[in-house]
Amino acid sequence: MRIDVVSIFPEYLAPLDLSLVGKARQRGQLDVRVHELREFTHDVHRTVDDTPYGGGPGMVMKPQPWAEALDAVVASGDGGVPTLVVPTPSGRPFTQELAQQLAAEPWLAFAPARYEGIDRRVIEDAAERMPVIEVSIGDYVLAGGEVAVLVIVEAVARLLPGVLGNAESHQDDSFAPGRMADLLEGPVYTKPAEWRGREVPDVLLSGNHQKIARWRREQAFARTLRNRPDLVARWRREDMDKHDLKA
Ligand code: SAM
Repeated sequence: MRIDVVSIFPEYLAPLDLSLVGKARQRGQLDVRVHELREFTHDVHRTVDDTPYGGGPGMVMKPQPWAEALDAVVASGDGGVPTLVVPTPSGRPFTQELAQQLAAEPWLAFAPARYEGIDRRVIEDAAERMPVIEVSIGDYVLAGGEVAVLVIVEAVARLLPGVLGNAESHQDDSFAPGRMADLLEGPVYTKPAEWRGREVPDVLLSGNHQKIARWRREQAFARTLRNRPDLVARWRREDMDKHDLKA
């Protein structure tokens, strides 16, 4: 997968060199290109923002540098266009399902903003040439979209074939569609079996895979009930039956 990120703080994207994403880049599974938005300005101050029409506090990112930066990203491709991901608190919520959709794309471009966001016409103009998706990583407001890019890229990258050591690791994750859909993952343990007087639940040492699977499902249900009652509301009868936990 190819990923382009345009930002006024390219240094903010340095973590894309680390850990899982960094290794995926080294292995050639991810081609990440970070671009400095100010490279696409033409004034001596390299201005990327201006006052908002209609008044109000804060500044708005100017259309011209963004349009030229996105044009350059598209022009550097082989004729195709990326899916443009625009982080914004007013976007659709970022979920595991959306991460999976994005992981199926061959090319993503990210437009993280600062200040009060990007002039709306940039998004409208881009949408005439490429798929555009506005995404929020949560109901809070960050100072800029770079952290949102790191969140989205990491969630997407670990779903790419061959990026995780064990391909099944993400299938039992919280929110993963399939076996554990709409369930949070339960608690996990490793060695030693006893630590500071606390013991690993006996069932995990039993070697009985059926019992272990059932215990994990029960734990997942209990944790979801406790921490995410909003997810519980989505459970359907057939899912309850599938999980052997009849109401
Ligand atoms: N005035 C904007 C609003 O209320 O929607 C907030 C702008 S915020 C200070 C600057 C930028 O940070 C946004 O344009 C976006 O790129 C990013 N950002 C902030 N919160 C975000 C969130 N929850 N999800 C995704 N991006 C976010």
